[in-house]
This record gives sequence, structure tokens and C-alpha cells, in this order.
Amino acid sequence: MSRRQPEIDAPLGLSLYVHVPFCRQRCPFCASYGVAGAEGQFDAFLRALQREWSLAAAEETECAPESRAIASIYVGGGTPSMPGHAFLQDLLGMLTNAYPVREDCEITVQLNPEDVDRELARALVAAGFGRVSLGVQSFDDQALRAIGRGHSGQDATAAIESLREAGCENLSLDLMFGLPGQSLGAWEETLARALLCGPQHLGVHPLTRAEATTLDRLLTGSFSATPLSEETWHPYQRAAALLSEHGYTLYEITNAALPGYECRHLLGVWSRAPLLGLGPAAHSLCGNRRWRTVCDLDLYLRSLRAQQRPPRDSVRLDALDQAREEIYLGLRRARGFTWAPLEARLPQATLERMRRKVRFLAAQGYLELDEQGARLQPQARYVCDSVALELINAVSGGAE
Ligand code: SF4
Repeated sequence: MSRRQPEIDAPLGLSLYVHVPFCRQRCPFCASYGVAGAEGQFDAFLRALQREWSLAAAEETECAPESRAIASIYVGGGTPSMPGHAFLQDLLGMLTNAYPVREDCEITVQLNPEDVDRELARALVAAGFGRVSLGVQSFDDQALRAIGRGHSGQDATAAIESLREAGCENLSLDLMFGLPGQSLGAWEETLARALLCGPQHLGVHPLTRAEATTLDRLLTGSFSATPLSEETWHPYQRAAALLSEHGYTLYEITNAALPGYECRHLLGVWSRAPLLGLGPAAHSLCGNRRWRTVCDLDLYLRSLRAQQRPPRDSVRLDALDQAREEIYLGLRRARGFTWAPLEARLPQATLERMRRKVRFLAAQGYLELDEQGARLQPQARYVCDSVALELINAVSGGAE
């Protein structure tokens, strides 16, 4: 039996995700929806978000903000800092004015280093953005150029200083490995520089693939999950070792935090908490419905000008679909998946088949078990998707 990993619980309440779809340029590695050259649309977009929020709050009874206080807000993109701090202040005011908000609501904004100066940092912290996720990716200018980023390592350092000076006490740095031409030494140098900055949270992501897999599509928000591979396993292991030495816990395959600084919003996503997404390409999970709003800014704006919800790809999840999600999303977390939600959703014979598969995978060294559930062994993280598929096949009646 294994020691349970420390991890805070996902918040009870509603999570909001807002997708701000503006980009200065499209970066070659990026699979997130974004539009370059749409600077003239900032005001129209804010008005559209206001309408979408009103319509969603009234219509989505399973995610109704009146009955579920807002527990986390995550403003991502795209480039949320592009429309400027006044836009973000207005957006936050709009989201939090009309409905109950938990006193300890976690409010995150994703920022690009080149947009952060002292004025923006002060304005956002004063407005209530208590958590910043900074897209550093690398401190190595050559690597940044190779992936088409518009900032330098020095810009990232200056942005971190501005945020700290402004009073930001919950800072997450996003780093990327497996970059073109990136040596292990260069990756270690980026990790060391990041750790010197003392962030509370670090995202360590392999270079994102442009295409989404079936399993990626199970995910919500704009949080893509790129599987680890033979090429990225060594730098990943190095990151895991360094982070552990510095007191961070990888509470999810690519997210590490100091104790108590796990991202509640991400935990909500991994644990299938109610999620309402606003903006084009935003994902939502309300009750047994999951949907993604249309990835088309113009159509999104037109629909809301006409007081209509924008088109969306929607799927109704039956009990088996929900169980599959529990398995896949649970496996990405250090805590793993638990039996209780699966027992509520699967017939006895299916559960037995799954338990046999879990015992088999544990005997092969992929999983560790306790009475509550199962989780990946650290060395099996690079085959997370394969292990998930084995288990999903078992509950779906596929071959064992
Ligand atoms: S990385 Fe950011 S700025 Fe670049 S295309 Fe993706 S969302 Fe846009």
C-alpha cells in the first residue's frame, strides 16, 4: 500500500473560465484557439461576454451561480493581457458583481511576459487577480525564438519582478520542454532560473502538439494535455527530481506546487467540478452535459449581438462516459482515481472487470493501489494515456 499524495480538494462551487481569444501573432506550436489582428474587437468582445454571462447564468440551472457560489475564476487565452488592464478590471467586475462569490475565490489571469509592466501588474493585483500564470516557457532566448515567442528571458525576469513588487503572492510560471534544439543542460538552466524566482506553482509542459487526440478532447478549459514521450521523458524526469528537491509536489502530471498552492481551478477541471466557460472555444461541464462554444470569434460576436447563445458542440454524457472521464482525469492527478464515483456509475460486472485490470496493471508496476482507488506509479506517467486506454477498454467491454 502506498502513501497518499498530499493535495487540497477541488473547490465546492462553480468554476468560471473565460477565453480571451486575441493573439498578436499565431505561434507555430500552439493549439489554443486565438485570432491575430482583431484588436478592433475588444469592446465588442466585452459586451458579448456580458450577454453570454447573463444568458448562461439564467439558463444553465445545473451551473446556476445563484445557488453555487463562484469558487474560482480563470481568465485564459489567447492573450488575456492584450486588451489591457482596464478590460480585465471590467471583466472581473462583471463576473463578480451580480452573484455570490466565495470569500476565498481563486482568481487567475494568464499573462505573457512582454505585456507585464509595473502599471499592469499593480492594476491587476489591486483589481483582485490574486493569482497570475505567466507564460515564460523558457529563459533561453534562442529557444524562445525557435517557438516564435515575442519575449526574451530578460522580459520574463522583469515581468516577475513587476508582479512581485505589485504584491502578487501566488505566481505560477509555465515552462516548456522538448523545444527544438533544446539540450538537457539548457532545460535545467531554465528550471534553475525559474526556481530562483520562488514561484508558488510551476507548469512543466512538453511542446504542445498541434492536433488533439481523443483523450485530449476529454479535457476541459484550454488546458491541453500533451502525452509524455520517449523524447520528453528524460527532461520531464529531471524536472520532477529538481522540483521535488525544492519542495514542490507534482500534484498532476505537468503541474507542481508548493504545499497549499495547488491550482483550485485545475483541480476542479481534473475532478469534474461544475465549470462554466465563456468566450469562443471555452469548454463547460454542467451536470451531465459537456460542451465547447464555437471556435469562431465573428460568429460568437454576431450571435450575442442578436441576444442568442453562440453555437456549440455539445455532448450528453451517460454513466459510462462519466466513468471514463473519472478514470482518465483521475489518472493525471497524483491522487489518482477513486472507486466511489465509479461504483455509483458502473454495473457490478463492469466494475469487477475493471478491478481485475487494475490489479493486473498494478502487478506490472504501472499502478499503485489502496482501498480508495489507484494512481499511476511515478515512472508510469509517460504511459498515462496508454494505461487510461487499457482501463477505459475494460469498462467499455473491450478486450482485456
Ligand atoms: S501561444 Fe498564446 S499568443 Fe501564441 S498562438 Fe497560442 S494563445 Fe496565441
